[in-house]
Amino acid sequence: MWGHNHDMKSFRKQLVADLESPPQVRRVGSGWLSGFFAIVLAIAGFCFVAALRWQMSFATPELDPLHGWTGFRVLVHAILLLAYALSLASLLLRPRKAMGATALVIVLAATILGGANVQPRESHDWGIFFGLDFFAVNMIATGLMFAPIERIFPHLRQQRLFRPEWSEDLFYYLISSMLVQVITFLALAPSGYVNAHTSWLGELRAAVSSLPWLVQFALAMVLTDLAQYWFHRLFHTIPFLWGFHAVHHSAKSMDWLAGARMHFIEIVALRGVTSLPLLTFGFLPSVMQAYVALVYIYSSLVHANLRGDFNRLGRFVVVPRFHHWHHAIEKEGYDKNFAIHFPVIDRIFGTHYFPDNAWPKGYGVEEDVPRGYLAQLRYPFVRKAQ
Ligand SMILES: [Zn+2]
Ligand SMILES: [Zn+2]
Repeated sequence: MWGHNHDMKSFRKQLVADLESPPQVRRVGSGWLSGFFAIVLAIAGFCFVAALRWQMSFATPELDPLHGWTGFRVLVHAILLLAYALSLASLLLRPRKAMGATALVIVLAATILGGANVQPRESHDWGIFFGLDFFAVNMIATGLMFAPIERIFPHLRQQRLFRPEWSEDLFYYLISSMLVQVITFLALAPSGYVNAHTSWLGELRAAVSSLPWLVQFALAMVLTDLAQYWFHRLFHTIPFLWGFHAVHHSAKSMDWLAGARMHFIEIVALRGVTSLPLLTFGFLPSVMQAYVALVYIYSSLVHANLRGDFNRLGRFVVVPRFHHWHHAIEKEGYDKNFAIHFPVIDRIFGTHYFPDNAWPKGYGVEEDVPRGYLAQLRYPFVRKAQ
């Protein structure tokens, strides 16, 4: 039996090595691109099929209109077919078979579940779900948005999509997308309590919700960034809280995926703190939804491996170089640039650092944060104060 586990491990190693292979062995015609896109499409197709089959457990209610759309099953079918064709192409073209084989197995698994014609199979409702469909939509949309622009306008040209520790960060991405409902529920719990006990704010809420949409949106950005600033600064100041936040700072490469690395408890607390002002002051739901979407994209953007000094623009809005300094290994960047939208907040509270044209030499923390999701989940509780 031990041999089975061993084989799985070495297969995983082969797959990772193949994904990370140097540019010479992944040029056009080498079967690398077809293998890569076969895997991405196979995973997306599998997630959609699972979401259609077990809607209660794996589908995100906000994506209901997507599932109900008549073209959706045709689209899922096309995704699976394309993944199948690409995996065959990769298997034919490429001497190393790990990528093609992985994609093929995932496509087959999706087909066994019922493929695009899958019928709902579920008699119970857990009341909790894991948004597999949200992960698929999110991964493809953000990947399509950021992977090409990081390639065209890179800050560090030699850094690749499959840089060190990419699989850890992708796993963080998977967990936070899949647990989107759990995270939202936990994060909104305190807001419900606050709302129930602050009925005297009724007039203020009515006034806020009658403001023009754009004014509400701008106000929401300022208020949440203020809340986020002090939350973030506290996590840098109090040693026990730093144990959680050190996980986010342990990323040694900065790109759109690196922003996903965040301790589960910090995500929940952060969402709770930033949604408090939004709910308490009665912003329109559409303002809150737009804000959540913006924050999702914006946090990928500020971590992205994108060049551009933006000496002037960076005074008014947070640009990648501003947040890169927050992650710097240089002492000058320590405990600076806590804001995520407006650098002026750092100016007001004396934590602003944005020297013209300069970039950090590297990213990370001084302490040894262990590798891997579970070890990092435990880290704040086993970490020795340094
Ligand atoms: Zn920080
Ligand atoms: Zn960050």
